[in-house]
Amino acid sequence: MSVRPGILYVVATPIGNLEDISQRALRILAEVDLIAAEDTRHSRRLLQHYAIGTPLRSYHDFNEEQAGDRLLEILQSGQDVALISDAGTPLISDPGYRLVRAAHEQAVRVVPVPGPSALIAALSAAGLPTDRFLFAGYPPVKKAARCEYFAALVDETATLIFYEAPHRIRACLVDAVEAFGPEREAVLARELTKRFETIRKGTLSELSRDANEAEDRSRGEFVVLIRGIEAVPAAGEEETARLLGILLEELPLKKAAALAAKISGRKKNELYSLGLALVRSKG
Ligand code: SAM
Repeated sequence: MSVRPGILYVVATPIGNLEDISQRALRILAEVDLIAAEDTRHSRRLLQHYAIGTPLRSYHDFNEEQAGDRLLEILQSGQDVALISDAGTPLISDPGYRLVRAAHEQAVRVVPVPGPSALIAALSAAGLPTDRFLFAGYPPVKKAARCEYFAALVDETATLIFYEAPHRIRACLVDAVEAFGPEREAVLARELTKRFETIRKGTLSELSRDANEAEDRSRGEFVVLIRGIEAVPAAGEEETARLLGILLEELPLKKAAALAAKISGRKKNELYSLGLALVRSKG
């Protein structure tokens, strides 16, 4: 008789404040047969804090293949495994992608146990648009590659989110000013959930100057958020809206939308929605 595989839990852990861990995460960490951790010494402190005695095994970027194969064998033998990283959500600029992918290929159930992630914490408090955002990980380390990487994102309309190491934050901001322009709105979220948490909002040039002025402002862990550009209305959109506005002064919405669709060649339902918005904005 074949053994039913165990479950691979992907468990988020705190990004600083140890209280930021869910009841469910604690229960699962205590119940699984094994915890796969990026740095076992680091994670042992978290587990000790919560008196969790589950065995730990290392799984990181440098042993990913071998350790991943062993973890899959353990899962296939019916044992449950929890994957954690040093901080936040595994796989988000952290190891785990290969393991999760291989688990799917081997029909091992993968269960997320959600919790903190620095990018979401930063976005939730930044006061920048949240309807669309693009998490772009760490910018490249070398200046030329970093400038190229920023240049490719200059016209992006979504809010941009990056991680950056403290020893590169100043250089990163200098290049960001060059690529996105000094006036682009941005936020620097530092040491989130920790004692020296700061969330600074300003133009890129202000933030860059700020980070260069005081040594302590470039220490700690950073999330960099840059506002996207305003979406340009589709060609002819403004003209169509004007036409629809005029028609709406004389006709009911349905007729105005139908006529505007005929004149502009655009879809009737699109113009109906636009007309509805115009009517509401006036009324
Ligand atoms: N998996 C993690 C997550 O879900 O956020 C990210 C891991 S990545 C290796 C570490 C980077 O996340 C740091 O260099 C920093 O950019 C960001 N980060 C992690 N903790 C942070 C915190 N408390 N405040 C600000 N940024 C943080």
